[in-house]
Amino acid sequence: MIGYKEKPSISLSGPDLGDAEIAAVNEVLRSPSLSMGPFVERFESRLASYTDSGYAVAVSSGTAGLHLAVVAAGIKEGDEVITTPFSFVSSANCILYEGGSPAFVDIDPTTMNIDVEKIEEAITPRTKAILPVHVFGLPCDMDTIMKVAHENDLLVIEDACEAIGAEWCGHKAGTFGECGVFAFYPNKQMTTGEGGMIITNRGDWDELFRSLRNQGRDNDGNWLRHIRLGYNYRLDEMSAALGATQIARIDELLSRREAVAQMYNERLEEVPGVAIPYSDPHARRSWFVYVIRLDPAFDRDAILTEMELRGVPSRPYFSPIHTQPFYVSKFGYRSGDLPITESISRTTLALPFHNGLSEDQVDFVVQTLSEVLAAQTLHAS
Ligand SMILES: *Cc1c(COP(=O)(O)O)cnc(C)c1O
Repeated sequence: MIGYKEKPSISLSGPDLGDAEIAAVNEVLRSPSLSMGPFVERFESRLASYTDSGYAVAVSSGTAGLHLAVVAAGIKEGDEVITTPFSFVSSANCILYEGGSPAFVDIDPTTMNIDVEKIEEAITPRTKAILPVHVFGLPCDMDTIMKVAHENDLLVIEDACEAIGAEWCGHKAGTFGECGVFAFYPNKQMTTGEGGMIITNRGDWDELFRSLRNQGRDNDGNWLRHIRLGYNYRLDEMSAALGATQIARIDELLSRREAVAQMYNERLEEVPGVAIPYSDPHARRSWFVYVIRLDPAFDRDAILTEMELRGVPSRPYFSPIHTQPFYVSKFGYRSGDLPITESISRTTLALPFHNGLSEDQVDFVVQTLSEVLAAQTLHAS
């Protein structure tokens, strides 16, 4: 066993920030504008050009961006939105904010994204939109989703919160639907602390988002004229300064993440009972987290606990949305309703993953995991 004494301290996630980010935030702090200043505009125009989108609107979080997308799509009481239960809770909550209901479609066991073959059968007269989530930075099959959406007159809102820079058949995630949303919480590929961004090619939606994030003001600059129900979803200048700097470094940030993922892939390929993340020939994954799947014969939760004791944090990712207590009490979901999501979510484990991980630390994680798995195998036999 590896000695407990010299175990390196390994964190599950962490931002990649440098002198450029510190300088940019300092510049804001020395300036008179802490909100609605030049950095928000800079961040928006850089992100629009990176994703080759007509418009980019900065907001205070990914969840805020998804909420505004649902408002723009006109979702209201009684409407249904097709989405995945295997995601972070906010991709379904945003539908509920406007009184709509999520229609959960089970996932493809290989990609862990929404099973595009099952979308059509979930469409009802009340269905208004499809909200695909590019889970763990792997894009959904957007060709099929857009085809089904067009044939059935549905809007598509892409939750690209885990997928900045990812590509489906050479096109960036977030650019296929009516709009796409990114998130910049500190565990994401790039961060603004809290923050998000909506991209769209629709000028009318761009204007609507700018008004909605700013208390429903008219975009004519009249500060005390409110033409619709709006919100305070503005991104402040300190966060935007981080974002403008991080998006300028995005290629470097993503390639370093990819290098860490490669280190894991090489070492884990040969470990019995472990499946490494799927690579889709049509897609470029943007590495958000590094999630392995364990053979179902293992007791995943016991492995997680034992790893933690040995200095390696890990997380069960995701716990399905429809099994969350709030969703169970509101909609009455039962275990077995979405069997593939439920069985896969019992086997997933997110390993420590960020740009600060050294090769030694990756070695340590893999060795620890191998030992813990071997011990459990012995115990079972
Ligand atoms: C991170 C994330 C969000 C929203 O993030 P915020 O914390 O609100 O910025 C939404 N959907 C998914 C799938 C996410 O991973």
